[in-house]
Amino acid sequence: MQPDDRFTLYDLQVEVEAGDKPMVCSHRVGDRFYVIGENLVFPPESASFSMYALSALLPILPAKQRPLHPNDWMLSDCVIACPDPNCGARFRITRLREHSFRHSECTVEPTKGD
Ligand SMILES: [Zn+2]
Repeated sequence: MQPDDRFTLYDLQVEVEAGDKPMVCSHRVGDRFYVIGENLVFPPESASFSMYALSALLPILPAKQRPLHPNDWMLSDCVIACPDPNCGARFRITRLREHSFRHSECTVEPTKGD
């Protein structure tokens, strides 16, 4: 019998919001993508996304997928600014649902308990 090696991550939505300045990049309010496991999923209506904005978001997303301590700032802070200092775009990260994965389907390394 295979050991229970399930773990959960949150599926995320990242959505463009207007800030207090005009947006100077190609962002459009409401553009979004989803983070499901290791994958970024772009819906047809949001088929493109700034690689510069993505560079600001990528370090945050794996942490936002995982359960966090209630006092951890990474849990409360959900809005990331565009890295262009002249751009007013903001990107809101929202947890959508928990998603179950199996360790053995994500890596060939043994679990820490093995
Ligand atoms: Zn921008």
